[in-house]
Amino acid sequence: MRQITATGEVDSMPSDTVPSSHTAPPDALKLLTLPDVATLTPDQRRGAVCVWGDEQLHADTAVDLGERTGAAGRWWPRACPRHAGERAHRALFDHAPLCEQCTDDSGRCETNLNLYRLVRDGRR
Ligand SMILES: [Zn+2]
Ligand SMILES: [Zn+2]
Repeated sequence: MRQITATGEVDSMPSDTVPSSHTAPPDALKLLTLPDVATLTPDQRRGAVCVWGDEQLHADTAVDLGERTGAAGRWWPRACPRHAGERAHRALFDHAPLCEQCTDDSGRCETNLNLYRLVRDGRR
């Protein structure tokens, strides 16, 4: 199993994108269903704890889920790679049958590839 460190992560990324945390593309993120904001703890709302669990998050492993707008206003949920991977896996199953591109050739669908990347990251 590969150890992920703040510095070791950089060399596996293209040089033009070196975010401080894993940032998935917005299209794929929209397919991940989040829990109701009202049910979350303040730590989950501010991204210190995984939205789908109770894992404390660190900048080098957390998955940014993008900006969301809910009843409580804008917030920036984050998740641990394992939970994000599980959700992405479900989203893939929901997405593929409805997507023309995936029915044709899933290897060419951006959304599919991005979700698949989240699934793969969650398994490391
Ligand atoms: Zn989690
Ligand atoms: Zn697709």
